[in-house]
Amino acid sequence: MNTRPLMFFGTTNLDLCFNVERLPTPGESLMGGLTRYPGGKGANQAVAAARLGLKPHFYTRLGDDDVGRSLLQSLREAGVCTEAIGIARGEVSGSALVMVGDDGSNMIVIDPGANLNVTADMVQSAAEFIEPDAIVVAEMGLPISALNRLFEMKADKGFELIFKPAPVRPGLSPAAWASVDFVTPNQTEAFELTGIEVTDFDSAVHAAVRLLDLGPAAALITLGAKGAYYADAKRSFALPAFPVKVVDTTAAGDAFNGAFAASLAQGLPLRDAVKRALAVAALCVTRRGAQSSMPTAGAVDEFLKSQTILELE
Ligand code: ADP
Repeated sequence: MNTRPLMFFGTTNLDLCFNVERLPTPGESLMGGLTRYPGGKGANQAVAAARLGLKPHFYTRLGDDDVGRSLLQSLREAGVCTEAIGIARGEVSGSALVMVGDDGSNMIVIDPGANLNVTADMVQSAAEFIEPDAIVVAEMGLPISALNRLFEMKADKGFELIFKPAPVRPGLSPAAWASVDFVTPNQTEAFELTGIEVTDFDSAVHAAVRLLDLGPAAALITLGAKGAYYADAKRSFALPAFPVKVVDTTAAGDAFNGAFAASLAQGLPLRDAVKRALAVAALCVTRRGAQSSMPTAGAVDEFLKSQTILELE
């Protein structure tokens, strides 16, 4: 099978995750259990694709600190090509402090560190790693000026562009929006971009119309446990999520997006690519963590086979 090249642009963080009985009130000290996870939306998506057997390039910016070195190492071990990654002297790597209560509620503080210092010129240099006929995937954690430059380069380089608008921020130019092939928001992001509350497939239809008005060729909205809705100018379809026992929904959207990009790169037809992304995301939510919960291609194939049998029964 001829796989197209794939390159991700986005953030990398170290997630410091404290599990606590309940969230603390101001001034209060509580005991909790700490787990460190490599995270960041860009890194999670690149790892999702690598776990599926692809060799994606990834551009992000790390500090030259212990955290940066360990994040770089874990990306390499996951099979991500790290040559394009910028290591910033004297800058700190991104990190996130996450507190999760027993009832699932959470509090998060992020220090974006080096992620925030990515410039348009840096992204332009990194774009040398975009090979002909590539699929490029970007999220909104990098500075908007850098994203605008990357998206503008599409006209010249001719890549296909998948854009996960998270976290939603203003400032993406109309030309940049018009260069997007697939915009892939979750329900919250779709609401923030369109003002339409997405609660089900019916409301997703309306939000997708507004999303397409922003300029992308297609909208692919993820609806958590409900599944995903796809629309472009000619066709639309909804696919349900796979029913699974949810353990931790961290990085479900990243799993979906990384797998959707990987599946398109492997030449799957659109609908099959969305279905495989739903399967990867479903497996992701059955495991704890972010990158550690991304399934391998073998696990996804097994899962899809078991689902077909269930459907036939
Ligand atoms: P995000 O993680 O960005 O908030 P979503 O919550 O929409 O994104 O989840 C992304 C995808 O993850 C969904 O489209 C679905 O495939 C999968 N997913 C999320 N939650 C569940 C769930 N409870 N059961 C099965 N699949 C899920």
